Amino acid sequence: MNRKADAIIIGAGVIGSAIAFELAKRNYKTLNIDKLPTSGYGSTSNSCAIVRASYSTWDGVAMAYEGFFYWDDWADYLGVEDERGLIKYMKTGSILFKLQGEDHSKKVLKFYKEIGVEYEIWDVEKLKQKMPIYSHDQYGEITRPDEDDHFFDKTGNKIEGALFTPGSGYVSDPQLSSHNLQVATEAKGGEFLFDSEITEIRQENGKVLGVTLSNGDQIDSAVVVNVAGPHSFVINRMAGVEKEMNIKTKALRHEVHHVPSPDGYDFEKDGFHTSDGNNAIYFRPETGNTILIGSEDPKCDPQEWIADPDNYNNQITESQWKAQVYRCARRIPDLKIPSRTRGIVDLYDVSDDWIPIYDKSALGGFYMAIGSSGNQFKNAPVAGHCMAELIDACEKGHDHDADPLKVKTVYTGLELNMGFYSRNREINPNSSFSVNG
Ligand SMILES: Cc1cc2nc3c(=O)[nH]c(=O)nc-3n(C[C@H](O)[C@H](O)[C@H](O)COP(=O)(O)OP(=O)(O)OC[C@H]3O[C@@H](n4cnc5c(N)ncnc54)[C@H](O)[C@@H]3O)c2cc1C
Repeated sequence: MNRKADAIIIGAGVIGSAIAFELAKRNYKTLNIDKLPTSGYGSTSNSCAIVRASYSTWDGVAMAYEGFFYWDDWADYLGVEDERGLIKYMKTGSILFKLQGEDHSKKVLKFYKEIGVEYEIWDVEKLKQKMPIYSHDQYGEITRPDEDDHFFDKTGNKIEGALFTPGSGYVSDPQLSSHNLQVATEAKGGEFLFDSEITEIRQENGKVLGVTLSNGDQIDSAVVVNVAGPHSFVINRMAGVEKEMNIKTKALRHEVHHVPSPDGYDFEKDGFHTSDGNNAIYFRPETGNTILIGSEDPKCDPQEWIADPDNYNNQITESQWKAQVYRCARRIPDLKIPSRTRGIVDLYDVSDDWIPIYDKSALGGFYMAIGSSGNQFKNAPVAGHCMAELIDACEKGHDHDADPLKVKTVYTGLELNMGFYSRNREINPNSSFSVNG
């Protein structure tokens, strides 16, 4: 086989599919290549798919806020039907606890005001009324229950209330969101090749020529985009571009746990997405009246960096289950803790400062949308728009390294400086260095 495309996109996860859709809309003949059998089967399939704006930087908040509107407008944005149906945007709103002292909500609120994100301030009374199952105790330093005999001891301090954003929530089915984007891309003439592993990025004189597959097939293209999720560093090494980058990416193992809602409470219907910085967890409603619990990466939790993203322990561990579920039980005292663990394990593609890289590279025609650090599902369509603008501008001769591209967003009209996401930036000291970005 010797095929040609205007742009090859490595990966058909939610971000790879969104970039393809946006490029196809700009008349690029796109080809997504994925080694898995269909779109969204990589890390996207296990995403918690939470859509919230509570990032640590102006740029992070602005991009995520723009994302709200794509999910809200999904059917019109795609402009096609999918025989599997379209995702539902579950707009529960987000609760971010306001804690005594310096906390994430104060940082975030400043950006909400500057950017115009709709929010409400809830005092403890309002919080009680909205979420009667939450305790308002504020705990001390975050610890692990199997290492701390005083794990459930209270400090006597109470949380101050919550910063609530009504526009946020989660996407019902992250894998389906990629499929929806695949169908929309195909309707614009884009193609997808599955069960096909890329083993070489072919190049000549500092320019990309195309890719080679494990079966020897060569596909030519002047544009190749690395959207390989947790395999991003493997692809960058294959292309020989990793060394020149100041910010790099690595794969990090992560567990997400599922527990039943307390008896008599319908968390699936009445629950909110909640960021509980005091317990370093986030949680949201899940089908089957279940609570899904993720971690906000506290320093006391061991980090398991994975050298080979095709080979890691994909079973829930007793110790991390206890850490996340017991932390949730401090916030929801009536939580029933099942004796059998339940949840998923997958990999984050983490950058050195937990902020993604949306950029070109030193190799002409080779681009990357990587380092999504467990927090870019929500931004996939915005990233699609920004990457398509960036690729198109660079292919037409724009020097993005010397003069970082500014991209005007579609719904909010905000201007995003793509230099913020440069592979050559310094580590951003304002990052939370966690999933909060
Ligand atoms: C457990 C978990 C929870 C998360 N929760 C949230 C959340 O609540 N909110 C949020 O905003 N974000 C969240 N994220 C992050 C978000 O899901 C990811 O940023 C997003 O799904 C990444 O999409 P992607 O298209 O870049 O990568 P992926 O979906 O990983 O797709 C990459 C694709 O590349 C393919 N590939 C790799 N190497 C090759 C090769 N050599 N040849 C061919 N194909 C290749 C893979 O098969 C894969 O399908 C979470 C992530 C995880 C893991």
